[in-house]
Amino acid sequence: MSLKTRILGLAATLLVLAATASWLAYQQLSEDIIQRWGQQVAEIQVRYDSARLLQSLEREIGLARQMADSSALVKWAEQPDNKALEQDALRQAESFRTNFRDNSYFLALRKNNHYYYNNARNEFAGKQFRYVLDPNKPDDAWFFQLISQGRDFHLNVNPDTELGVTKLWIDVLMRNEQGDIVGMVGTGLNLDDFLKDIVDINQDGITTLFVDHNGAIQLYRDRNYIDFATIVKPEGQKNTVDLLFDEPEDKQQILGMLAMLKKRSDQAGQVESGFVTVDGREHLAGVAYLPAIGWFEITLLDLNTLVPRSYLLPLVAVFLVALLVTLLLFHYIIQSRILKPIMGLESAVKRVREGNFSLPRLDKPDNEIGRLADHFEKMTLSMKDSTRELENKVAQRTDELSRLARIDPLTGLKNRRGLDELLDEEIQRSRRQDNRFGLIWLDIDHFKAINDQLGHQAGDEILCRVALWLKAGVRPYDAPGRWGGDEFVVILSPCDAHTLSQIANRIRHSVEEESRKTGTPVTVSVGGYLCQPGDTSDGILREADRALYEAKEQGRNRVCIVSRNDETPVPETEL
Ligand code: GH3
Ligand code: MG
Repeated sequence: MSLKTRILGLAATLLVLAATASWLAYQQLSEDIIQRWGQQVAEIQVRYDSARLLQSLEREIGLARQMADSSALVKWAEQPDNKALEQDALRQAESFRTNFRDNSYFLALRKNNHYYYNNARNEFAGKQFRYVLDPNKPDDAWFFQLISQGRDFHLNVNPDTELGVTKLWIDVLMRNEQGDIVGMVGTGLNLDDFLKDIVDINQDGITTLFVDHNGAIQLYRDRNYIDFATIVKPEGQKNTVDLLFDEPEDKQQILGMLAMLKKRSDQAGQVESGFVTVDGREHLAGVAYLPAIGWFEITLLDLNTLVPRSYLLPLVAVFLVALLVTLLLFHYIIQSRILKPIMGLESAVKRVREGNFSLPRLDKPDNEIGRLADHFEKMTLSMKDSTRELENKVAQRTDELSRLARIDPLTGLKNRRGLDELLDEEIQRSRRQDNRFGLIWLDIDHFKAINDQLGHQAGDEILCRVALWLKAGVRPYDAPGRWGGDEFVVILSPCDAHTLSQIANRIRHSVEEESRKTGTPVTVSVGGYLCQPGDTSDGILREADRALYEAKEQGRNRVCIVSRNDETPVPETEL
């Protein structure tokens, strides 16, 4: 995997991890904020709704209590057959009727179970006695139930089939001075108006309901859930608040809240809240106890409606765009500042490793990699210079060595290798150009004896002198060389028989003459051969050696030139 893929992969992984962590943290935080906010809203809403309900009811309850305390009514209740008291009491009741919001009242006497009622239209003026409550009639059970429970005050949602209305009834027990229950008074509020005012508020995502001390639903926008005449129903048959919740733990939670709030009913304004699922949607439930009426108020906030998740979409979009831009930016920076310069540097290193010192232009960002590239460039330049210098020196040395390998160190003439190469070249040229060249082979006479008599050093000096005389005796373009020991070879090119003989004789003569002047006379025997196109190296040397041998044989200090029968050697006298 390339460095680029790895870095980008790592960056993407880290970014995704960081993004996921941020996203989770953000979700947690926003959830937390929404919860806190929801709890506050739930508490405010609960208090607000409770206040609205109590505001509507308190005056009615107060009036109902006053009515229950009315001495005229209590007296009559104790003597229901006393017509004078009845008249007085009903007058009193009528005055309360005009004050009640619903302009209606009811009045029930315990002694004779008589039920009195008049409404806003004063429909029953003079005939307020409506019927006799029957303990065996389910519709009348409320009366007997409340008396048997001794509950001084009760709110009852109940349809009055006799009157054809569904009302929220405020029931207050009448007691005499001894505290005995003598009857019941109260008023009713039209449930539909009341629900519209208090519960059916048009606030999306907010649901308000009221339940009694047992959790039975009393006020709710859906009438089907309302537990009418809850007082007369046995436990287990009541429409309790847990019906609204899908999950058993939510039911438990809400019932737990109700129990806790009831226990702390002395601490006013307490609100409990928690998350519940209603109709498959998550809600925040706020619950408050209303001790004045013995009910609970429950407010359900649908957080998804109040704070829709779609609110977060622009944020998510911004987040994703930011993530993408960060990745692209990261890619661009890594690419331009690190990867591209490194790749350039890598290919430059490869070129240098292969011996190519001409670098392409390197990327040099203003960072460590840029500085590294700069150092590398300078290092390569200096390597290039020193390599070139080294190569020049090696070439010079090689030339020198090559030259030295072909030079005789004592005399400075070509040595045997130099002569061999030159001979090969001349053979080639002779073949190419079809011309002849001459080869002279000479050997110092009795050199061993000279060495023995005068010493090796003196012998060397003689060798050097012979070399000098040899050079002086040939043409500038002829090539004299030392074959080895006291033997010398001269290649004469171009050459003919006459020239060969002439130069061979001149050499022999000059050695004899010049050496005599030095006080150490030496002579040389000279063999010569005029080479023909097509001659081989071995053949030429053999012929020249044969000529030298003959010169030695004939008494030394002479020239002997051999030919291939078509050439006549030039006598020494022609010099
Ligand atoms: P000849 O007339 O038959 O040539 O007799 P010669 O004594 O010269 O015999 P030869 O050519 O065979 O002897 C060559 C001698 O040259 C033998 C050796 O001691 C001597 N010699 C060879 N190389 C050197 C050298 O580099 N320096 C010196 N001083 N002597 C050398
Ligand atoms: Mg010799």
